[in-house]
Amino acid sequence: EEGTFIVGSIGAGYVGAITSIILAARQPNLKIIVCDVMQEQINKWNEGRFPFYEPDLEKYYDIAVNVNKNITFTVDVGNCIDQSDALFICVNTPPKVDSDAVLGKEADMTYFDAAIRNISNYGNPEKHKILIEKSTVPVGTYKRINSLLGEKIQNPEACFTIVNMPEFLAEGLAVQRLLNPDRIVIGTTEDLNGQEAFEVIKGLYTNTETLFLKLRTPSSELAKLFINGMLAQRVTSMNSMTYLCEKFGGSIQEVQRMTGSDPRIGPLWLQASPGFGGSCFEKDILSLIYIFESEGQQAQALYWKALLNMNDAQKHRILDMIISEFPEPESTTLTLFGFAFKKNTSDTRLTAIAYIANGLIHKGYHVKIHDPKVTERSFHFEMEVQGFNIVEKTNYEFCGSDYRKAVSGSSAIIIGTEWDEYNELNYNELITLMDGDKKNLYDFRSYVDVQQIQQAGFSKVFKLGN
Ligand code: NAD
Repeated sequence: EEGTFIVGSIGAGYVGAITSIILAARQPNLKIIVCDVMQEQINKWNEGRFPFYEPDLEKYYDIAVNVNKNITFTVDVGNCIDQSDALFICVNTPPKVDSDAVLGKEADMTYFDAAIRNISNYGNPEKHKILIEKSTVPVGTYKRINSLLGEKIQNPEACFTIVNMPEFLAEGLAVQRLLNPDRIVIGTTEDLNGQEAFEVIKGLYTNTETLFLKLRTPSSELAKLFINGMLAQRVTSMNSMTYLCEKFGGSIQEVQRMTGSDPRIGPLWLQASPGFGGSCFEKDILSLIYIFESEGQQAQALYWKALLNMNDAQKHRILDMIISEFPEPESTTLTLFGFAFKKNTSDTRLTAIAYIANGLIHKGYHVKIHDPKVTERSFHFEMEVQGFNIVEKTNYEFCGSDYRKAVSGSSAIIIGTEWDEYNELNYNELITLMDGDKKNLYDFRSYVDVQQIQQAGFSKVFKLGN
């Protein structure tokens, strides 16, 4: 329709698709075009076969697609660019594989830059566009975009306004977070163009309660990396304390309660775990380290590097703990409960459990892997991505959501992902399927009801940090 404001999204992954679906569902007057270079990804969205599991997303997909009818998914990137008034750039920015940095890893901007080049090729220069960096990018990217566009376009300022709008969606909670964001941050210039872009973007949202923060572009680019570093730092600090709690008879929950009740610290994000995973934390910390490193700021680079080392140490500690308890790998079956990097998502990217699975498989245990949402294909793909070669191995079994298969003949259940259902299972029944001299349960998310589960007759119920 003439006059309809069109929002394009480049990238139909977690960020691009979920933010677009919610926007389309909430704003029937907008038109949303989501494009991606991957035909398979687009086919899935068009056919309503979601490429990943995200709670409540179906409902909003249905509103956008069947009620508002204001969203399209396409591989025609050029057309999406041409038509849009505002373009969300939501492509992946992974760590560079061949980065020559010592401590950090530069963000690989290949996909992002390809998207910008596409914009300079297809962008109708008559139509002013707002380009929104939604991907997490290194500081200074907004300037680089300008020069990339400059290759093709004489006067970029006249056609494009570039803003940074970091995404805070948390997988598993993405829908709720997007419906009720804590704040929406827009990094832009302080001139009239910047002010105008800020108002236009604000107008895309129906949330009247929401705090809109207008920052300088480098501030928001930097703060996005920093926030992920801070979040990782909080959970890693707790993880470092789990050993001491176990050793000295403390409880990580009590430490958490006391720490979290200090108003200077606050209660959120203090949950102990087998190590953080997910596609963002490690990559953004590596990117931050790289920036410090390339600025010659060694102490800062080492400071953030220590966080990654500590995260690895937690994974090693947990693996060793299991191995030391079962000295006869060949005759022992172990069950991993959970492979997703956290609950309520099928995302396995950089899940800490991959390390543990690999260690156990290579040690010779018979390993059974259960997860309610992860597919066998994702399991294999993730093991490969993390460099764990299990191709030749025959001593493991991916059991999907089949509990009976996963626990039968097993000497231990090892909970690595905090799915609610693992705390609600009928362990009285499951334990009858298990086998071995002892039957243990390990809760590496430290959230199960130990007394309840102990009643089923486990030899030992271990809760991380207790
Ligand atoms: P993703 O891998 O799920 O999706 C990226 C998509 O972009 C892929 O489908 C890919 O095919 C597509 N793509 C790549 N190059 C393209 C191009 N030139 N044109 C069109 N499509 C292209 O990644 P994601 O998890 O959605 O993350 C995207 C960005 O958002 C990253 O920078 C990430 O750091 C950031 N981010 C992610 C999250 C999260 O929870 N996943 C949260 C905040 C920020």
